[in-house]
Amino acid sequence: MKPLARRTDNLVQSNIRAVTILLNQTGGINLGQGICDMPTPDPIKRGAHEAIDSDRSVYSYYGGIDRLRESLLRKGREYNDIPLSSTNNIMVTVGSTGAFVTAIFSLLNPGDEIIIFEPFYGYHVNLLQVMGAKLIIIPGTPPDWQVDFDALRAAVTDKTKAILLNTPGNPSGKVWSRADLETLLEILQKHDLYAITDEIYEYMVYDGRTHVSLASLPGAFERTITLSGFSKTYNMTGWRLGYAMGPTRIIEKMGLLADLIYICAPTPLQHGVAEAFDMDASYFEELSQAYADRRELLCKTLENIGFEFSWPEGSYYVLANFEKLASRYPGFNDDDEALRTLVTRAKVGAVAGSSFFTRPKDGRYYLRFCFAKEISVLEQACMDLRAAFA
Ligand code: GLN
Repeated sequence: MKPLARRTDNLVQSNIRAVTILLNQTGGINLGQGICDMPTPDPIKRGAHEAIDSDRSVYSYYGGIDRLRESLLRKGREYNDIPLSSTNNIMVTVGSTGAFVTAIFSLLNPGDEIIIFEPFYGYHVNLLQVMGAKLIIIPGTPPDWQVDFDALRAAVTDKTKAILLNTPGNPSGKVWSRADLETLLEILQKHDLYAITDEIYEYMVYDGRTHVSLASLPGAFERTITLSGFSKTYNMTGWRLGYAMGPTRIIEKMGLLADLIYICAPTPLQHGVAEAFDMDASYFEELSQAYADRRELLCKTLENIGFEFSWPEGSYYVLANFEKLASRYPGFNDDDEALRTLVTRAKVGAVAGSSFFTRPKDGRYYLRFCFAKEISVLEQACMDLRAAFA
C-alpha cells in the first residue's frame, strides 16, 4: 500500500505516556506523567453538572463562552498584567495544546525557524516538527538551566520567525525573571520576532518568586501569544481546557483554525470552569503552599539518595541527575535503564531524561519526577525510593 504521510514518519509513543503504560502493567506510583491526582474543586464540578443537566450542551462560539472569556480578560489583566483591551484578545481552547497548535499554524510557514530552549517539553518539539517548522535549539546550562543569551543572539537568522518559551519550565523548573524577559524582548524587537509563551504552571512558583508574563513588558504584547490552561491549576488535566491571550489579529486566525479543527472546547465543561473565578483567592495560596511542601519532600528524598539537581524555581517537576548513582548501583547506566530500575526496585515511575533533549546523550543521566500527587501517595513513593536506594 502507499505510505502514510511523511509528517508522521518519526512519531513514536512519547516517553511521558510510556511510563504510564508501563506502570499500568507493573503497578506502582507514577511520578512520571504530569497528571495531578488531587481533586478538581467542587464549584467547578457542580458548574459542569448544572450545565449538563440544563442542556447547555450545544456548540459555543469557537473562541469560548462569553462568561469565561470575560473572566479570563480580568484574570489576564490583573494576575498577568497583560494589556488586554477586550475579549477579542482571548480564546478558550481544547487544552493549552489546542492553543499551541493553532498558534503555530497561525505563525509559521513550513521551513520557518523557531527557537526553543533545552531541556524542552517534547510535545512542543514534536508538534513543531510535524508542522514542518525548523527547530533551532538553545541548550540550557545545568544544573539550573540558565539561558545562554549570547548563543540565542547568535542563533537568530533571517529565517527565524519566533521564539518559544515555557515559564515556569517543564521539565527544567526554571522561572524566567523579569531581567531574563527584558533581554529576550530586546532580541525579539531587534529581529522582529514573535514569541509563544507557555505559562501553564504560572501558579506554581517557589521561595517568594513571582511569575512574570512576557506580554506584560512594555512593547511585548503585540508580538506575544500567551498560552495557559486550567489543567494544572485546578487539577483537571482530562477536561482539556486551555486558553490563549494575544493581539486580536493573531487570536482571530487561531480561532478560525480552532473552528476548523474542533469547532469549540466542550461547552458544559467551559460553564463548569467558569465557576473557578468565583472561588476565594486563598485557593492560590493553599495551592502554592501544597506544592512547596511536596517539592521539599521529593527534593530532600532525591538528594538523600544521591540525585543531583537544583531545586525547581517553579512548575511541579524535578529534573534530577543520577550519574553519581551509576557508580553505586547497577541498573543506572542510562535514563531508560534507570527508569526500569526504579520501577522494578521501588515501584516508582519517572520520565526518561532523553525525552527533553535533542541529543539522547544530553539526557542520558536524567530522570524527571513529578510531585503533583496526593501527599500520602508522594510520601509512600518517597519511602519506597529511600527503602530501595538510600
Ligand atoms: N504536561 C504533562 C507532562 O509533561 C502531561 C502531558 C502529557 O501527558 N503529555 O507530563
